[in-house]
Amino acid sequence: MDYDSLVVSFSQITGHRRLLALLSRSVEHDSLPPSLVFAGPAGVGKRLTALAVAQALNCLEVSRVQAPVSGFGFDACGTCAVCTRIVRGVHPDVVVVAPDDRGSIRMEHVRDIVDRSAYRPFEGRRRVVIIDDADALGIPPQHALLKTLEEPPSSSVFILVTARPDMLLPTVRSRCPQLRFRPLAADDIATVLVARGLSESEARAVAATADGSIGQALEASAGELVEARDIAQRVLEYASSNREPGRRIDGAKELLAKTGATSFGDRDQVASHLRAMASLLRDVEVLATRADDRTLANPDVRPALERLTQTYGGERGIRAFSAIDQALVALDRNAGVKLVADWVVLHL
Ligand SMILES: [Zn+2]
Repeated sequence: MDYDSLVVSFSQITGHRRLLALLSRSVEHDSLPPSLVFAGPAGVGKRLTALAVAQALNCLEVSRVQAPVSGFGFDACGTCAVCTRIVRGVHPDVVVVAPDDRGSIRMEHVRDIVDRSAYRPFEGRRRVVIIDDADALGIPPQHALLKTLEEPPSSSVFILVTARPDMLLPTVRSRCPQLRFRPLAADDIATVLVARGLSESEARAVAATADGSIGQALEASAGELVEARDIAQRVLEYASSNREPGRRIDGAKELLAKTGATSFGDRDQVASHLRAMASLLRDVEVLATRADDRTLANPDVRPALERLTQTYGGERGIRAFSAIDQALVALDRNAGVKLVADWVVLHL
């Protein structure tokens, strides 16, 4: 579950609308301060936002919309070569510095970025240096940064990301306007979790205890999402190799299996297994039609997806997908859980 592997742009970041709109306008009008602190609790999207700023500054196909649908008049496309390289961490002009294994950011590292920022960007319009967990900078590295933050080269932007801005030297803080990220609303977190395959009520339960942090919520639910997908995969594989109805029904037992140590009801569990199946079948369809496979939702289980493509790559996949859809509706309308599970495996 790698949150950072998502393509980001302002419009795809959860929450923080006012703050993102401010950044979007500043990039558009070229009025972004050259050094900034993004402060706020862990796991709310500070680093993603810094990456979105880097994209907006360098995207090849920036969209300028008169009446923006997304609420942002100026945003990166999120999909061009520059945007994707920035997210993958391989753009030469967008540097992310983070603490090493021992939790500190070393002096050499800081000297290196200071030296590099004296030169023009290699290929981008602006160099963006993102210092993640900037509170891990010791006093000497902060002093080493100070001069650059004071007189930043015009082609560079520095963004210091931190949950503990008070750990930064007052001299550093006084040179960097601070944007405060607030905890996210539970509704926003639940929406993200549902998109990842949790049922509505599971998502709400996890979101309620996540302290406004998507990072924390994803961590709490990662085990369950992975387990639900394992079960979904086994049920699909079982159905594809067993034609006989009696044996098919055995597959339904998997679907009814308990996952995780949570107290979610049977109905929720079966629903999340079904949603995981739908997600796998959508990917199978992508592979079968040779559509752009960067859009796979489950790229990490690609070999399994390819095996399933032999059975579900055509019309049968579409029928199975629609059966799962009907089963989810039936569960929603309080149909018997076992009945729904039996019915759906017969229609895969
Ligand atoms: Zn782009």
